[in-house]
Amino acid sequence: MEFERTRLVAEMVAPGSGELIRTEVEVRVDPLTGHTSRILPNRGLMPPNDFDLEAFARENEERCPFCAGRIERLTPNLPPAVHPAGRMVQGEAVLFPNLHAYSSHSCVSVYSPRLHYLPLGRITERLMEDNLSTQVQYAKAVIGADPESRWSSINANHMLPSGSSLFHPHLQGIIDVSPTTLQRQLTDVPAERFDDYLDTERHAGVRFLGNSGRVHWLVSFAPIAPAEVRAFVPGLGSPVELDEDLVAELADGLVATLNSYAELGYESFNLAMYGAPPGTLGYPLNLRIACRSNLESFYRSDSTFLERLHWEGAVDLAPEDVAERIRDRFRT
Ligand SMILES: [Zn+2]
Repeated sequence: MEFERTRLVAEMVAPGSGELIRTEVEVRVDPLTGHTSRILPNRGLMPPNDFDLEAFARENEERCPFCAGRIERLTPNLPPAVHPAGRMVQGEAVLFPNLHAYSSHSCVSVYSPRLHYLPLGRITERLMEDNLSTQVQYAKAVIGADPESRWSSINANHMLPSGSSLFHPHLQGIIDVSPTTLQRQLTDVPAERFDDYLDTERHAGVRFLGNSGRVHWLVSFAPIAPAEVRAFVPGLGSPVELDEDLVAELADGLVATLNSYAELGYESFNLAMYGAPPGTLGYPLNLRIACRSNLESFYRSDSTFLERLHWEGAVDLAPEDVAERIRDRFRT
């Protein structure tokens, strides 16, 4: 597979010196969905975190509905048809409906009611695996109770810049009768194209991070967001088809990614695991995870008119550099 990229050159006269300045921007086409992304020269658009998150956590902890002592009283219960016990619990993780629903089935799962503050460097495989397990159990229960709702996804807004309205770290699941835009675009991709994309990336090596067993991990060629990592699970298409081993394998890769983000100085991220209806042939369950700007009083959002209104990524972290900096954590 040939990856498509075009080089654009901007010319201008420098203030003061009058010298001619040339800046190169590379436009890349995503091999799966065809969306385009701009790779900019490194301008320091994503500075490392220097905000005191721990002090901020202490300030807002007292009012947090997801903390131990309040979670039981302040969060809703699942309808009995989905789960008679009301909440799903696995290890320290607790799952309950999202009070502010985004879909007909919308849930929140905290890593732990005791972990109001959980920097990315401290997320463990155990915490992630238990939290992902509750999401898989939820998707199975919803599809059992409401078989028409076949489009499920597992997501995260982590820290305020990512769109999270609550500080307390959590995952979110949404399940509906119809797909989101990206779920629809991805399930329209022919099976051979996914294979071809993975083969090409594996052979090129510069963005490929590793194969952890049944899951392939790589850095996006045409990222929508900064430091974007993608994972593909060939052979199944929905989170409800994940077995315990695969949940553990996905958790390990996600934690490797998040611990790497912490090392790069990032503390906010978004995640989407795009499920297709169970039994969809040729569609590999896949996910995207990417950094968001850090929290600070005068911060630049990483999501601009390009990302929001043109659906075009623009990042100054070259995917190949990101792969180089985080690959060590994927070596087995
Ligand atoms: Zn809390």
